[in-house]
Amino acid sequence: MRLSQTFAKTSKTLAGEGDSLNYQLLTRGAFVDQLMAGVYTYLPLGLRVLRKIENIVREEMDRLGAEEILMPMLHPKEPWVKTGGWDSIDVLFKIKSRTGNDYALGQSEEEVVSPLVLSRAQSYKQYPVKVYQIHWKFRDELRAKSGIMRGREFYMKDMYSFHTNQEDFDAFYKEAKEAYLRVFDRLGLVAKVTEASGGAFSEKVSYEFEVLTDAGEDVIYYCDDCDFCVEDEIAKVKPGDECPRCGKGKLKEAKSAEVGNVFDLGQKYGKAFDLGFVDDKDQKQYPIVGCYGIGISRVMGVLVEKYADEKGIAWPESVAPAQVHIVRLGNQDEVVEAADKLYSELRDAGVEALYDDRDESAGAKFADADLIGVPVRLAVSRRTLEEGSAEWKRRNEEESSLVKLGDVLKKLT
Ligand code: ATP
Ligand code: MG
Repeated sequence: MRLSQTFAKTSKTLAGEGDSLNYQLLTRGAFVDQLMAGVYTYLPLGLRVLRKIENIVREEMDRLGAEEILMPMLHPKEPWVKTGGWDSIDVLFKIKSRTGNDYALGQSEEEVVSPLVLSRAQSYKQYPVKVYQIHWKFRDELRAKSGIMRGREFYMKDMYSFHTNQEDFDAFYKEAKEAYLRVFDRLGLVAKVTEASGGAFSEKVSYEFEVLTDAGEDVIYYCDDCDFCVEDEIAKVKPGDECPRCGKGKLKEAKSAEVGNVFDLGQKYGKAFDLGFVDDKDQKQYPIVGCYGIGISRVMGVLVEKYADEKGIAWPESVAPAQVHIVRLGNQDEVVEAADKLYSELRDAGVEALYDDRDESAGAKFADADLIGVPVRLAVSRRTLEEGSAEWKRRNEEESSLVKLGDVLKKLT
């Protein structure tokens, strides 16, 4: 991607509202554009990051044996009435058509996925069923805040699993929890797992995956020695207490953001639609259902909050919008030629590169490279070319060094 050619330029000033760090850096870096409170366009760089996060999540869901589908965002009213959600879910967006029909915008998809799966999986032999999608969700949040961390439209991975019995459900639940920890680890995040009751869904146990950040809206108490962690609202313990799990550590308090969760929904959805399966004794049963969410766009916001410094974003390699950011310093023929050549060689080798080929000052280009946050910056100038080299600098290190142009590819891969 040539920075001279993209329509979405970085900017020093902020358009729109919002004072959270992820909002400011993502807007100035031209990753996102706010259309209105809680609703964003993902610009070329932002979309690259979103896709990277999405693909890591997809790989781990596929590894779990879940099948990817894509369900509609526009839903008929009827299934929402059947489950009671039409009247009880305050964040549900409702739409009336010109012919007077009512619709809902998907805020989660149990109402669509349950009849979809259960009308097909009618025999116990077809179980378990695990499906997921990665798609937009709509919620009438009272306050859209914290940049892309709480939107009215946001990108989510939602998985649903259907089981004939509790043991099978519990085994998969455990596997899913491990897959989630792998996802967050690959994304460069440490997620603490809280246990909570299932809130609006059920009284069953749920797990929430929380990342410590002051930009989050939750407060958790966690042990400084083991993996014990609870949300403050439900907690029977308080900060400073001895850990009730290991008895060794002390409980600490921290602000955190929920990046994912898993719920045991029990038999609620089978019952609501009166859809189930026939077991090996020819009896009708309702399946045990689980739902599993990851807030993909929220994760992107959390990554900015965790990995930013005073100069801008410093993306972890696994989600960075490119592997290398080439900065051309000067527009003498030999510099243009060498930088162009480096860019096309890297691209031909499958390396994702940003190429700052604009007529801007060195200071402005370096400031933008720091703002955008690609892991490696490669500067090409008359001076570096005298050594047949480019200047190599990592975003998260101070020192730079010269690398021979012919060695760049090797060093990157
Ligand atoms: P929260 O308590 O933050 O409102 P939730 O319990 O409503 O979250 P779920 O309905 O389980 O969340 O959604 C799954 C995931 O989607 C959450 O863990 C979170 O990462 C993300 N998410 C939820 N609401 C939003 C939102 N308004 N904007 C961005 N991401 C969201
Ligand atoms: Mg919510």
